[in-house]
Amino acid sequence: MSVSFRRERVEGEILVPSDSGYEPRRTGYEMRWDPLTSQACKLLPESNLLPSSDFDLAGFGDQSKSWCPFCAERVERVTPRFAAAISAEGLFRRGEALCFPNLAGYARHASVSIYGPDRHFLPLDQITQRLVADNLQTQVDFCRSACRADGEATWVSLSANHMLPSGSSLFHPHVQGAVDPFPTTQQAISAGVPGELVGEYLAAERSMGERHIASSGEIEWLAAFAPAGFHDLRAFLPRFESPERLPELVVQELGRGLAAALQLYAELGCSSFNWALFGAPRPGHVLNLRLVARAGLHESYRSDVTYFERLHGTALVDQAPELLAERARPFFNT
Ligand SMILES: [Zn+2]
Repeated sequence: MSVSFRRERVEGEILVPSDSGYEPRRTGYEMRWDPLTSQACKLLPESNLLPSSDFDLAGFGDQSKSWCPFCAERVERVTPRFAAAISAEGLFRRGEALCFPNLAGYARHASVSIYGPDRHFLPLDQITQRLVADNLQTQVDFCRSACRADGEATWVSLSANHMLPSGSSLFHPHVQGAVDPFPTTQQAISAGVPGELVGEYLAAERSMGERHIASSGEIEWLAAFAPAGFHDLRAFLPRFESPERLPELVVQELGRGLAAALQLYAELGCSSFNWALFGAPRPGHVLNLRLVARAGLHESYRSDVTYFERLHGTALVDQAPELLAERARPFFNT
């Protein structure tokens, strides 16, 4: 088994209008393939495809505060409860965080966790390690209980849509959990990647250094070689197979890394993101997290998901992962 970092330069030529008719201009991009899954990516020259946004999110959030089901006045009254086999109290609590069932049945056991009932507006630069870790811990507790109660539902994931451009239907920031009998497409693809290949990939990234961001005990953070979206950051937890198996200390460590990544996103002018953490119920599999930024709300809003991402499974991005890693390192090394 040998890991490969394949990249190919592709060039073309067009004729552009000029004072003397048309003159030739070279075009070009770099094609990259993910070393673990072969998922392709087109890396374009930098052209501001993800502009930073100064949209008034606080003002926008005020519009939904009077009816938001996750706000303090309503959350404990209007949200559903888990069956007793999963939680005696019907929900999971940690610090400010609360985790309750998702009314939308996205999985056989589906959960929603909020950072806190008073966190209706939570800009990225205010997302601290404590807020992330407490939120993650409620989800890990939920997943562990759901797995214990239902031996058929072995595919576990935690994921987040943050702010409307990411697909979130509610403004109030939250994370979602799923414990299901079937894998999603990416869970199935990821489960087919041998743990030894992941080990080779991480060793190669550590030795090359250009995309490696930090090693924090149990977790390796990298900029993705072939991004699946903008500012694609990846975390690998080689000693763990699935989210429900994470001990509290590692949840804390993951919370610290995610909070650092979101501080970086804030500095890059981002306000919306998606992440997903999943593994596989198989010995030797490596639990991993992927985080991408989404376009911010803007007067001239453009979705960052085009036919390339939706239908070709090939991200079109204009930022070099090597530069992202360089910008990320100070946030992880404080
Ligand atoms: Zn709210």
